[in-house]
Amino acid sequence: ALVLRDIWKIYRTQSEEIPVLKGVNLSVNQGELAIIMGPSGSGKSTLLSIAGGLERPSKGRVIVGGVDITDLDEDELTKIRARKIGFVFQSFNLIRNLTAVENVMMPLIFTGMYSWRQAREIALKMLEIVGLKGHEEKFPRQLSGGQQQRVAIARALAPSPDIILMDEPTGSLDVDSASRVLSLVKWLNEAFGQTIIIVTHNPEIAELATRTFYIRGGEIYQQPPTSTLADKVKELKSSAGYGSFA
Ligand code: ATP
Ligand code: MG
Repeated sequence: ALVLRDIWKIYRTQSEEIPVLKGVNLSVNQGELAIIMGPSGSGKSTLLSIAGGLERPSKGRVIVGGVDITDLDEDELTKIRARKIGFVFQSFNLIRNLTAVENVMMPLIFTGMYSWRQAREIALKMLEIVGLKGHEEKFPRQLSGGQQQRVAIARALAPSPDIILMDEPTGSLDVDSASRVLSLVKWLNEAFGQTIIIVTHNPEIAELATRTFYIRGGEIYQQPPTSTLADKVKELKSSAGYGSFA
């Protein structure tokens, strides 16, 4: 369902070129629940953004649901993204002046396949599924972090995408909210065979993985590369401190 072929990403600043991804190959089949791990700054979010068509690779091909999206123009990309890809961002990225239900409606409208009324109906159902009945008309600021995260998940799921990409979906949640998100992920994958790729350090999610990828030094491994104890302590600290919700 997702194929990344020799992906390079080089960020250019005024003074230097920073290669973040150096020839990453990755292939995730329909129905898999794949996990991507790696230290802070290793390029996990960059990789997910490229896989989701939000950022373009410096080199390489991105194939989603059998469609090569690498060279599509912005208009085509927006449509493909809305239909085929559900993205749950590290920071939720809800639109602040839209209500919960309107946020979930957005990608449905973007597909060009639903009327306003149909989109609203589906969005309401999705919010109910993620346990947000009664919160439909609230704005993001009126919702807790965990509730916002669930709106973001409902939004990602609403158009029944081929693939769901989640960037640290439990990173900034308390234990209860995280376990709700976890159950939801498990249910989607088991009940519907939904293909899911998650960047996470959550050991409970990692346990569900059909496959675990590990990014380090711009390259991807299927097994964690051997690291020293000092490395491990550093990684734990950087992941634990990351994304705390203000
Ligand atoms: P974290 O676990 O902290 O979320 P990450 O693995 O998701 O980290 P990325 O956000 O992908 O890391 O960033 C990878 C590297 O690319 C970092 O060194 C970051 O500073 C750099 N980077 C990301 N976006 C840009 C950009 N737009 N311009 C320049 N450098 C960038
Ligand atoms: Mg990140």
